Amino acid sequence: MENPYLKVDKQIVSEIYTTSEPMDNLKVLCDVYGSRFPGTKGDLRSVKWMVKRLKKYGVKNAHFETFKIPGWKRGKATLKVTSPIKKEFDVISLPHSIGSEIESKLVYLGDGAIEDYERRKDEIEGNVVLVTSRNPLGMKRFLHRTEKYMRSILARAKGWIFMNHYPAYGPPTGGISPIIPALGISYEDGSYLVRLLERENEVTVKIKTIDKNMEVETYNVICDVPGTSEDNEFVVAGSHYDGHDISQGAVDPASGAVTVMEIARNLWKVRKHLKRRVRLICFGAEETGLFGSYNYVATHPKEMKDIRFMLNLDSGGSKGKKGVTFHDFPELEAYVEKWAAEMNAEMTTDQRVSPYSDHWPFFLKGVPSGSGGDPEARRTRTGRGYGHTKYDTVDKVEMEYLRLAAANYTRFLFRVANADEWKPRRKTQKEIHAFSEEQGYDQTIKLAEKVKDFVRTWDEIHADTRDWLDRKSEW
Ligand SMILES: [Zn+2]
Repeated sequence: MENPYLKVDKQIVSEIYTTSEPMDNLKVLCDVYGSRFPGTKGDLRSVKWMVKRLKKYGVKNAHFETFKIPGWKRGKATLKVTSPIKKEFDVISLPHSIGSEIESKLVYLGDGAIEDYERRKDEIEGNVVLVTSRNPLGMKRFLHRTEKYMRSILARAKGWIFMNHYPAYGPPTGGISPIIPALGISYEDGSYLVRLLERENEVTVKIKTIDKNMEVETYNVICDVPGTSEDNEFVVAGSHYDGHDISQGAVDPASGAVTVMEIARNLWKVRKHLKRRVRLICFGAEETGLFGSYNYVATHPKEMKDIRFMLNLDSGGSKGKKGVTFHDFPELEAYVEKWAAEMNAEMTTDQRVSPYSDHWPFFLKGVPSGSGGDPEARRTRTGRGYGHTKYDTVDKVEMEYLRLAAANYTRFLFRVANADEWKPRRKTQKEIHAFSEEQGYDQTIKLAEKVKDFVRTWDEIHADTRDWLDRKSEW
């Protein structure tokens, strides 16, 4: 197939494959600045460093925007079995857990299928729920941790333990709402508790957490590669840069953030040929509730109609093929097919939308969007592996995939920006609403409202929970 951009492609690909820029950046982001969790020292420092790097590349308008979000500081968590034996376990609090102390019976819910919270309500009431991170068998959509947590609360659980379903990765983390104390436990320790419960029928546990919920400042890093045309339309590519506080967040998300920076650097080098502007964004505070992307969409309302396409590269440099999963825009598949052929790149496509990353606020505004990654792997994925554990470290990231991601997506975005025929149909608010409903995503939102109403009826409400109830909006 004839390639109208052969010269540009050659320049981009040879630059990417003869430098180690994204890997060098990844090491600094993770080893020097740590998790970049909102409110940590490394957060602001990493943001200033990213802006400095981007300025060095030459790109325009490199800056960061500041906003306030509900933050959280981890304290040491303990979990003890107090009866029929005495034993202590290594656990961690889940972000936004309240600081609290409770002693109660342990109830194991397996993978936490939706029907079990109703069915076993009597057992759950007043007790501590133990549930795995695995998706329940036969469940079509992804049953997110927060939904398992909220359904446990509606069944009147007083404590919550989230068990990794992967061996050897330690306790998992992941944000919840500040209502009851919530812990992560390893597969091995969780399995021990399950066996103890099977043998003894009744197990009492004591949970102590000393976490703090408070407001913190965090950031979005933004820059532009301007286009040569007068067109107002532009393209957005982004990835969050914040990791979980227990982790380097190397694959998720730093491999994506450095891919975004590498795309900026390479698009800048071919800017003379770029028709429309490409805006690159590294979002803050994704892990605890998509705060960065929601903030961007809320503070740049006029831009929404001019965004041609938003490519989310969350964990973009992870191992695997680099295609595009479009968010229900089937008319865009033909573009990738044609472009992949002229680029001689292997880029497959798929259609599916998850509400759990930074494309979601853009999707809700009707912006045509997609996620980078391997569509096939996305379809068959059953969990996070070492993601969201302390083992998501720099050594998990391979140069090969950082390069592949940068090579495919720089050229893909260049083509999106240059295409004269680009007409994905923007969804109306009504269509988006109907789509969310059909996918079952509105259930999560309704569930959150239900939980708030329920918690308001409690006699005793923790101060952190009170703040959460008073907050007007969350994602
Ligand atoms: Zn992520």
